[in-house]
Amino acid sequence: MKAFDGVLIAGAGVVGLTTALSLARRGVPVLVLEAESELVREYRGSTFHPPTLEMLDELGVAEELIRRAVVVDRVQYRDRREGLIAELDMGLLKEDTLYPFRLQIDQYALAVMLLDRLKRLPVAEVRFHKRVAAVAASPDHATLTVETSEGIETFTGRYVVGADGGGSAVRQSLGVEFEGMTYPERYLTMFTTFDFSAHIPDLGPVSYVSDPGEWFLMLRSPDIWRVLFPTRPEERDQDILADASIQARLRGIVDAPGPFDIVHSRLYNVHQRVAGTYRRGAVLLAGDAAHLNNPVGGMGLNGGIHDAVNLAEKLSRVWHGEAGPDLLDLYATERRRIALEHVQAQAHRNVLDLSEPDPDKRRQVHDELRRIARDPELARQLLLRTSMIAGLRGSAASESVSV
Ligand SMILES: Cc1cc2nc3c(=O)[nH]c(=O)nc-3n(C[C@H](O)[C@H](O)[C@H](O)COP(=O)(O)OP(=O)(O)OC[C@H]3O[C@@H](n4cnc5c(N)ncnc54)[C@H](O)[C@@H]3O)c2cc1C
Repeated sequence: MKAFDGVLIAGAGVVGLTTALSLARRGVPVLVLEAESELVREYRGSTFHPPTLEMLDELGVAEELIRRAVVVDRVQYRDRREGLIAELDMGLLKEDTLYPFRLQIDQYALAVMLLDRLKRLPVAEVRFHKRVAAVAASPDHATLTVETSEGIETFTGRYVVGADGGGSAVRQSLGVEFEGMTYPERYLTMFTTFDFSAHIPDLGPVSYVSDPGEWFLMLRSPDIWRVLFPTRPEERDQDILADASIQARLRGIVDAPGPFDIVHSRLYNVHQRVAGTYRRGAVLLAGDAAHLNNPVGGMGLNGGIHDAVNLAEKLSRVWHGEAGPDLLDLYATERRRIALEHVQAQAHRNVLDLSEPDPDKRRQVHDELRRIARDPELARQLLLRTSMIAGLRGSAASESVSV
């Protein structure tokens, strides 16, 4: 058994690495155990909202991320047939945040930066090829059983953070339920170098496009566009992923000559689930291990980073003896409440609005969006919600009441 006088973190995804960096910068020793042999390089989340940028600034990585990303100054709501419905200027948030814009860049870029910063800190270590299989939680310590290339090892730490993604072994080992639902339709994300903005003159870098048959999202990242479609439950994987079908879906957006250059395509299940608790004794859950939601609006990745920063701030105070362990319950209850009341609700609402089948209701949704876009204060209020600022403000208020 290896005793580690610090915080063990399962998973070197963006959430595990953010938790680690945030703790280590506050002088708390951290050991991150990652199952894979290196950082997982997959196209996944790519949206970074303003409050997340403020948090990343505190960690010293915002500037580099902004330099490398597509900086999005406006968000568009479009309709497949009608075109542009409403455009919201993110600059309306200039009194609300230091970063009145959002970024588009693949989350892997952030993971690399976080790992690089962690390597410079003597109290932090990241070990690869360490797959957490089980956890045993006590009030004042926790033990991880870990599969390694040399066999089974056990690590005991003062605290354990389960940041090991949606299939979290930590959560499952604790027996914490993960209630919610799985959408009947899977999502297809395609990545292409095709420059849509050259063919759709008024297209912005981020567009939510409604359609009763097949809504979609268009997001521009550096050098690449990602387009996300829902698929029909009865469609077979091989038919969805066939090149002809991918080309047809994209031609439905713009009837360009020649095939679209497809860099990657991915089909996946979409869930809305929240763990029954984020804390069991010395074990805490964060990020996808604690909550999953549909990706429309880019709130899962951002919410996970918000978990990480909130948890690290509280855990470091407990570690340094400035607060009792009960402070961790505040993390667990507040972040869980935000996931349920704000993130899940907003993410689901986003999909309902995009897919509204009733023509009268669809017109109402569009009219409302046009009305909001014409009124700067209404537009600001909507941006506060979709940029996750409103939820964090409500949480800050209730945390200050509870402390
Ligand atoms: C296919 C897909 C597409 C997505 N698209 C979007 C999107 O468009 N927009 C958006 O906002 N979000 C999107 N997401 C969600 C976003 O990627 C996640 O919210 C985000 O990655 C959560 O970060 P995390 O660190 O909590 O989990 P992860 O990124 O899953 O990281 C978990 C880490 O833990 C490691 N690990 C797993 N099990 C173990 C174990 N037993 N022991 C040790 N290590 C372990 C994994 O290898 C991984 O490195 C998508 C997710 C998926 C799967």
